[in-house]
Amino acid sequence: RRARVTSERLAFYAPELNARAAEALNLESRLRRAIERNEFVLHYQPKVGMADRRITGVEALIRWRSPDQPHLVPPGQFIPVLEECGLIGEVGDWALRQALADQDDWWSRGLVAPRVAVNVSPLQLRRPGFAESVAALTSGSSMAELELEITESVIMEDVERNIVALSAARDAGITVAVDDFGTGYSSLAYIAKLPVNALKIDRSFIVGMTDGPEGLAIVSSIIALAHALRLKVVAEGVETEEQARLLHLLRCDEAQGYLFTRPVPAADIVALLMQRKPLGGPK
Ligand code: C2E
Ligand code: MG
Ligand code: MG
Ligand code: MG
Repeated sequence: RRARVTSERLAFYAPELNARAAEALNLESRLRRAIERNEFVLHYQPKVGMADRRITGVEALIRWRSPDQPHLVPPGQFIPVLEECGLIGEVGDWALRQALADQDDWWSRGLVAPRVAVNVSPLQLRRPGFAESVAALTSGSSMAELELEITESVIMEDVERNIVALSAARDAGITVAVDDFGTGYSSLAYIAKLPVNALKIDRSFIVGMTDGPEGLAIVSSIIALAHALRLKVVAEGVETEEQARLLHLLRCDEAQGYLFTRPVPAADIVALLMQRKPLGGPK
């Protein structure tokens, strides 16, 4: 009888497990094909100065134009898979090269090309010689202005080693921003030693900022900490005028969010750079 129960369980679980494994395998092979066929695209979301709402930089955000999907696939649905199957390095290198090529295109159109930020995954950062390989990408152009965005928890995971790698990047003129700041349990002892230029306040704190005094205190503390360490501070995910006004009052330097613009294709960035207007309606 026990044997029968076990086999029933097996019969119940096995097909489901197989289906899930098959789906993962399928996604992996579709992603391999996507690399071969250049199905990835970069969209860009501007960062604006808090005081004048003009573009100070842009962040590259990857999307997948999958032939099997009606809409662009967002990074949350495939970056983890690329990391698991060891393909993130290849796609990450592509994103770096593409972002620099787009910046080059903006220059060649006579536009004031903003600094371009590219998100870096932990596996990329840990690859030996990563900083040097990124430096080699920018060394061809005297115009290249590149920033790397690295999530706080990733920097803190192997902080001593990352300080060495990030210092090498900085020596090559590449700046570094700590992404999703406030979510990664930073050691304050290390924050001061990090060779970084900016802290990006995670969107969850911007959402909480207008909920009450505690939420406001967190954001104002992060801003004060950043400035005490002579770092620039950028607010992520600003959606309302109220948030933007408060952040300006709190002396936040820059912001990103749907209030100003959503991430847009490179061609739309060209249009925004040509207009040279403040983004996101009235101040
Ligand atoms: P992130 O770097 O923290 O990027 C911010 C995310 O918030 C983006 O989502 C952006 O579209 C979204 N966002 C911006 N403004 C607002 C707003 O006002 N409200 C709301 N609700 N969301 C806003 P996205 O594009 O889906 O990217 C998600 C994450 O995927 C990124 O988080 C980043 O960690 C990762 N990612 C994106 N591109 C790359 C890449 O090329 N390489 C790697 N390794 N990771 C990437
Ligand atoms: Mg980012
Ligand atoms: Mg972020
Ligand atoms: Mg975030």
